[in-house]
Amino acid sequence: MKLGVIGSPIEHSKSPEIHTNFADQFDLELVFEKYLVSKNECLEWVKSFFESGGHGLSVTLPLKEVVLEISDDISSRAKQAAAANMLFLKDDKIFADCTDGLGLVTDLKTKEINIADKKILILGAGGAAKGIVPSLLKENPEQVIVANRTPEKAIQLVAQIQELGGSQMKSSILMPSSLTLDNLETTSFDLVINATSASTSADQNLEVDSSIFKGAAAALDLYYSQTDTKFMQMAKEQSVAKVYDGWGMLVEQAAESFSQWTGLKPDTSGLLESRGA
Ligand code: NAP
Repeated sequence: MKLGVIGSPIEHSKSPEIHTNFADQFDLELVFEKYLVSKNECLEWVKSFFESGGHGLSVTLPLKEVVLEISDDISSRAKQAAAANMLFLKDDKIFADCTDGLGLVTDLKTKEINIADKKILILGAGGAAKGIVPSLLKENPEQVIVANRTPEKAIQLVAQIQELGGSQMKSSILMPSSLTLDNLETTSFDLVINATSASTSADQNLEVDSSIFKGAAAALDLYYSQTDTKFMQMAKEQSVAKVYDGWGMLVEQAAESFSQWTGLKPDTSGLLESRGA
């Protein structure tokens, strides 16, 4: 089976080792390569990958939106996210899905971090935030606040998801904000998620007040890193009991993609333990 991951840059990707681990569990022979693909060449490249026997692709930055243009069928969760993190060939058609949200929710459940009836603060309103918010909302949280450096983008994201959610989506449950949270009555959260890309930059400059962690039971940085990010350090300094990076989400979203590609459900525990996640 020919699989792969596309993006730019791509060298850092852990997808080959994750999918090889899954395949080994079933003695499944597969080829999983990293491919450096730019936005300009993406559509032609994907078409020729599937025409030449490719079966499935993971999709990472900056291609998550553009791949929708070549997809014949798009899952409802990829439509909600307006982005896909995986493609595969189903009945000779290219199917696009977004498994990021499910990956995060599965990871939170494994870590016994509750979502139902909880107040959740999400920092960031980019592709990752778009992918996770609909899945979090399905778990019936009390409130989800999307706070972004550029507040207009948070407003846009919330409006887009509310529109798709129809009249059941109450504006008191999903709310936009700026990073200063100055429009909010409550500034206390059960779970704080860093969905900004601040942790990827050398200075990791994320201008948030450490009070966002006061009383929080858990904090999770979607970025995966061998060492604690500044966000994780801040959370630990505020005595948040459960502080994690995005490794667990990465493994779980990959497991969901692998299941769809192969029909086999891999055990993720070995990979999760290998990082202490
Ligand atoms: P993106 O679409 O480029 O969005 C970046 C977001 O970060 C925007 O909201 C941006 O705010 C904000 N931002 C960037 N630098 C900032 C700073 N210094 N201070 C405050 N806000 C800042 O990126 P993405 O795809 O959403 O990815 C976000 C993160 O999620 C990355 O770390 C990525 O590695 C991680 N991720 C992890 C997984 C996983 O499986 N673990 C999956 C997907 C993504 P503005 O709108 O103001 O520019």
